[in-house]
Amino acid sequence: MKLIQLINLFKGEAKVSSFEILKAISLIEGKEISYYLQDSELEISEETFIKIKKYYLDNYPLEYLTNKVNFLGLDFFVNENVLIPRIETEDLVLIALELIKTKQINNIADIGTGSGVIAITIKKKLPYVNVWATDVSLEALEISKLNANKLGVFIDFRHGAFLEPLLEDLSKIELIISNPPYVESFYIDKSHQLQYEPRIALDGGKDGLNFFRKLTMYSKYLKDKRLLLETNEFNTNQACEILSKIGKTKIIQDSFGKNRFILVSNLD
Ligand code: SAM
Ligand code: GLN
Repeated sequence: MKLIQLINLFKGEAKVSSFEILKAISLIEGKEISYYLQDSELEISEETFIKIKKYYLDNYPLEYLTNKVNFLGLDFFVNENVLIPRIETEDLVLIALELIKTKQINNIADIGTGSGVIAITIKKKLPYVNVWATDVSLEALEISKLNANKLGVFIDFRHGAFLEPLLEDLSKIELIISNPPYVESFYIDKSHQLQYEPRIALDGGKDGLNFFRKLTMYSKYLKDKRLLLETNEFNTNQACEILSKIGKTKIIQDSFGKNRFILVSNLD
């Protein structure tokens, strides 16, 4: 497809619907394009067209094109510095909300907040809860802060790895939630879908379990807390074995019936 053809087609317009652009590509290429997305207004720019071409030819995620993801009814800004929030993580948040209410929890932390979906959605739905959120990536923290501002919630954002940025407040925190990087390295290397997402958000090492192993180094701080973690459906048992150094583990399924979450706790 000639980019210039496409640009000429929309000349003079400041914005155009993503449906219209995809229709135009389809016409120029003479092929059907199957796509799903919520239609959005896109800025007309060379950058937009380059991205659309990458979407069409090379699996570039639509969410990075439209810079938008709806998560449990809230609109979040996303770009290539953050993981595109997944539908399974909506289940994680629903489970966390239930837990917070039934166990009367007031202080929670989200480790590896990325776009901020977990921390911000919980704060939005249960405003009385104090929420800390961390990320090792400064670029990701910028996006989560932007989303918190946009959605009008206060989150105590901290920069750093694992529990390091929270150590001084850890005694207050009752529940730690995380969707950590848990994909096996080789899987990312061969995946077309994951190539545009930050490697640091996905890469769990050779067997996908590095984050869980490192977390157990903090077990002395975690004995009296609850941990709710998202994991890879294929190695939940191994993850539980590792996490049993911290406390009793319980596997919870996602709405697709896959083993996806682990609750770690010595409390009732
Ligand atoms: N919470 C977001 C979500 O569910 O969509 C993003 C999850 S993404 C799978 C993992 C996030 O953890 C990334 O933003 C990444 O930068 C961050 N991260 C990776 N290693 C980390 C570590 N050791 N400590 C804290 N954050 C980490
Ligand atoms: N669920 C994501 C995927 O399979 C992985 C996210 C993560 O590593 N936490 O693509």
